[in-house]
Amino acid sequence: MRQIRIGDITIDAVIEREGPWRKPAHFFPTLDQATFDAHLPSMEPEVYNKALGMLMVTYQTFVVRTPSRTILIDTCTGEDKGHPPPFDFPGKARWRNELFALGVTFESVDYVFCTHLHIDHTGWNTTLKDGRWVPTFPNAKYIFHKGEYAVWEAEHQRGANPPGTVFRDNCLPIVEAGQALLVDDDFQLDDMITLTPTPGHSPCHCCVNIFSRGQRAVVTGDMMHHAIQCREPDWSAKPDWDPVQSAKSRRAFLASVAETDTLILPIHFPTPTVGLVTADGDARFNYTFKRD
Ligand SMILES: [Zn+2]
Repeated sequence: MRQIRIGDITIDAVIEREGPWRKPAHFFPTLDQATFDAHLPSMEPEVYNKALGMLMVTYQTFVVRTPSRTILIDTCTGEDKGHPPPFDFPGKARWRNELFALGVTFESVDYVFCTHLHIDHTGWNTTLKDGRWVPTFPNAKYIFHKGEYAVWEAEHQRGANPPGTVFRDNCLPIVEAGQALLVDDDFQLDDMITLTPTPGHSPCHCCVNIFSRGQRAVVTGDMMHHAIQCREPDWSAKPDWDPVQSAKSRRAFLASVAETDTLILPIHFPTPTVGLVTADGDARFNYTFKRD
């Protein structure tokens, strides 16, 4: 994604991994292939690899710079985590290099926000130092939704997997280091950042609103994983915590931004990533990349 500007704020993408990923029916349990195929002509060509029959899925972090702060939203899978396939992406240097190429150092990050506490949104929260997981960004406050944190803490305590090592290695060390801000739905930062609760994919998943000079962008985390979910909002993804609630949140969110100039930043959408939502009748939406 090319840098976008919202009033006084710039937003860049730092990519960990991109390319073809999973067959549609493997990722959306209620997907009907004929319906998917029928929607293809109305979707942007970048979102699907027809030759392979696979979704195009990116893993990325958004770097939000206000006049006074550097904020990272979602932190991919990270390095040295020992994740099993398919999350054992090779070549983690790309993420680091792209971050540093923006002039952002680990020390210069003021806030890290995780839309939810899953394996591919918390990875770079921590790095391995002398056998211990420590915060990657030594001067940052990490913003987690307190309800989200509480659920995964309870799951972790009863030995559930997921979240498995995700809570232990990516989240708990942040709290233990005193760098976590556990916040509620009404959290605000400098009148520029607010949250929109969109539960379903995870217990307290939140989208992150970015406002400046009358303009708005929203990082939508995993509220949707693929543009097909604008065409068929009821197709919830396999990893969703509550598929029915996920669909409800998606419909409500898409209806709220359709036909507005709100820029949408979905974490897993391929380059050019940023786009606009329009309505297609009462039940469906279109996602159009903003290419200029
Ligand atoms: Zn994800």
